[in-house]
Amino acid sequence: MIYPTALVTGGSRGIGKAIVQQLFEQGYNVAINYFRSETCAVELAAALNKHSLGNKAIAICADVSNASQVEIMFEETKKHLGTVSLLVNNTGISQQKLFTDITEAEWDTMFAVNIKSMFLCCRQALTDMIHNKNGKIINISSMWGQVGASCEVHYSASKAGIIGMTKTGAKELGKRGITVNAVAPGFIDTDMTAALTETAKNAALGSIPMGRMGTPENVAKAVAFLAGEDAGYITGQVLAVDGGMSM
Ligand code: NAD
Repeated sequence: MIYPTALVTGGSRGIGKAIVQQLFEQGYNVAINYFRSETCAVELAAALNKHSLGNKAIAICADVSNASQVEIMFEETKKHLGTVSLLVNNTGISQQKLFTDITEAEWDTMFAVNIKSMFLCCRQALTDMIHNKNGKIINISSMWGQVGASCEVHYSASKAGIIGMTKTGAKELGKRGITVNAVAPGFIDTDMTAALTETAKNAALGSIPMGRMGTPENVAKAVAFLAGEDAGYITGQVLAVDGGMSM
């Protein structure tokens, strides 16, 4: 049996971990990219492999904002799991700061990790995808890339850029048999939102029509749908997973 291979960036925890678990359960070989969380990534791969029906998970370290590390990550994935046919660009960082307090270095880091990383990973994945006329790319954007978040101009702008990149990719790559879509989570219960103040959390909760935070699994199910056959004719779209928050 041949298993398709997925690579999930920032896959050791939070939304990325839920995506890894969902894809593995659906029969993908999964490369779990991590940067600093080695233990989490290695333990996750071991736990998945223990109950595997034949597919494999591996943990791969790379700073996805670094071109040569990304290149090595794809080489290692191909060597151990085969060609990547599904790329999930999930890595992201956030920061709450006033517009006027954000430094140039903070702006550059935000864009390097949140969007340059996607360009670098897509560039690596596309060589084989174009050759095989088959591939799916799913980018994790954010509701804030669509509606803008106060005190997060660099985060919101980077997430809006991801939507532009997704639509461009869909237009350029459609005829090559490759779909490119984005998922825009709202307020999801992970380490990223745990860092917010109680006041910020309560304000966010108050503006969610469904009245609760989303789970990483809610986002993972949307990614799995876009990765699957049922979404074969969907490209260039941004799927909101936000309990109605962006309406
Ligand atoms: P998280 O902080 O738990 O996960 C982010 C992951 O990215 C971590 O595994 C981290 O190690 C990894 N990472 C950071 N810098 C990296 C680098 N240079 N190279 C490789 N990996 C790196 O946060 P999360 O909530 O799980 O976020 C996942 C994605 O979802 C992010 O893109 C985030 O912007 C997006 N998102 C989250 C929410 C939310 O409410 N939690 C809402 C909208 C969008």
